[in-house]
Amino acid sequence: MGKVYLVGAGPGDPELLTVKAARLLARAAIVFHDSLVSRRVLQLIGCEAEVIDVGKRCGQKLLTQDEINSLLVSAAASHDVVIRLKGGDPLIFGRAGEEIEALRRAGVDFEVVPGITAALGAAAAAGISLTDRRAASQIVISTFSRGTVGAAMNWGAITSTTTLALYMPGADYAEVAQHLREGGLPDDLPCVIVSNATGAEQQIRWTSVGRLAHEEKLPAPALLIVGRVASRNLQEITKAFWRDEPRDRHAPRPAVS
Ligand code: SAH
Repeated sequence: MGKVYLVGAGPGDPELLTVKAARLLARAAIVFHDSLVSRRVLQLIGCEAEVIDVGKRCGQKLLTQDEINSLLVSAAASHDVVIRLKGGDPLIFGRAGEEIEALRRAGVDFEVVPGITAALGAAAAAGISLTDRRAASQIVISTFSRGTVGAAMNWGAITSTTTLALYMPGADYAEVAQHLREGGLPDDLPCVIVSNATGAEQQIRWTSVGRLAHEEKLPAPALLIVGRVASRNLQEITKAFWRDEPRDRHAPRPAVS
């Protein structure tokens, strides 16, 4: 019985792989990868390994999640090192939960090897601190495009000091902008779109909630960072962008004397 490694491939640049991921890729017997994994990372797979693309193409799934789960379980019966390679980090919007459950149920040994998630790659690309102490106290990692119960974004969690990392923003920026506005975000709140973060075709577009709808679409994969930290103007960063924030909702109550 072999072992299944759920490995994060990082956002694109192969040099951002962990040493452990690179070492495992070199000695894998079989690798199941997503379409998001960059070609340069795939080149690190040893030439003896069987390499199978189980990713999505043009919205069409090549394999269902259940089929992938079964493949991982059966591969472990006949291969010593089985790798499930996913873009970014396997535990962020990577369906690793379902795979881990299937492996556990089948009694297959597994290990998660973290990767650099797209939000961190995008922040590094844009040179912004997601938790800049002058403007942010929390990061929310979210998406609008999930058809599951956990889909609805919790706008209550978003405050004037939140940095929102929005995965899978979709092709329609006008729709994204509308969601953001409906969530109460003001038009002058800065945001930045990072396409192909850390990859050779990386593009960065500095914009705002109000201007987003009119931005030219950048190629996928792209991620949106929304919040005061996405301002390029350090003077601006401390300005209050939030207009309708409930006053001191969570502030500690003054002691009663
Ligand atoms: N597990 C991945 C996320 C998979 S969901 C991770 O941790 O990064 C796919 C979404 O991730 C894309 O729609 C996009 O929003 C984002 N993404 C992945 N790679 C990216 C990259 N190199 N640049 C920008 N966004 C990226």
